[in-house]
Amino acid sequence: MTLIRERDGKRLHIKSKLMGESLVSRSFIDELSIAPQKRLFPDVNILKIGGQSICDRGARALPAIIEEIAANKNDHKMLITTGGGTRSRHIYAIGLELGMPTGVLAKFGNSISEQNALLVSMLLAPFGGIKIGHDEVVKLTSYFVQGCIPVMHGMPPYDYFAIPPAKGRIPAHRTDVGTIIMADLIGARKCIFIKDEKGLYTGDPKKNPDEGFIPEIGARALIEKDQDDLIIERPCLEILQNSEVLESIIIINGLEAGNITRALNGDRIGTVIYKE
Ligand code: ADP
Ligand code: MG
Repeated sequence: MTLIRERDGKRLHIKSKLMGESLVSRSFIDELSIAPQKRLFPDVNILKIGGQSICDRGARALPAIIEEIAANKNDHKMLITTGGGTRSRHIYAIGLELGMPTGVLAKFGNSISEQNALLVSMLLAPFGGIKIGHDEVVKLTSYFVQGCIPVMHGMPPYDYFAIPPAKGRIPAHRTDVGTIIMADLIGARKCIFIKDEKGLYTGDPKKNPDEGFIPEIGARALIEKDQDDLIIERPCLEILQNSEVLESIIIINGLEAGNITRALNGDRIGTVIYKE
């Protein structure tokens, strides 16, 4: 960066490519050359433990998942995120009925996904589980050196600033989105969503058992397909498609033993959604 002096000779400015730009101009952004995004933690896998799909099943689902994560600790670095689930839906329903804005609903969702992060980190504690805040992401290396399995809540911290959606007031950016943004941020090795279905179907298999299974699909194709319902939050597709560092995400059934290990080892499993 070069320093330049104003014509009257009194003030110094820092010359940069962005100087004098609105940062809104499309043509400017198209032409701006930038360094490729660094993959900050390319050996770290990020795994989201679903709220409704997993945590809410309590003893019927969580202990086996905790055990499988712990069993993989020596082979894989893992950062765990958590969803909110039924309790988020409950408070969203009450808030919506009482006219609460998106930002208040997002704040509710945040604290509930944090409850699940506390639960999961407590269950993982005997194996090195440690609950961390979003800011602690810079300390990931230290956690792994000490044999920890860091757990953070998945809700992105937009809170009161959550963007009101085009329709309704449910925040569009919830814990799947928080997870994939975190995966992009760290340049994760794998981004694995642990849910309660084999993966993505043509529609919700719980509502219609005849829906077809989709083992793999491109993010752009899935956006264009415009399915009525998805197994992950819709904005994840665009975030993946725009990512410089993520190639794909994987959705697996965590209720089936061995799937987490298979996904971590790179075995073909669940649904892979890839960047096109
Ligand atoms: P999580 O708690 O992990 O966020 P959700 O309950 O929000 O999980 O989302 C997972 C659920 O989405 C599945 O259990 C399934 O019933 C539902 N779902 C809706 N559409 C689809 C689809 N196209 N394919 C698979 N599952 C779907
Ligand atoms: Mg969900």
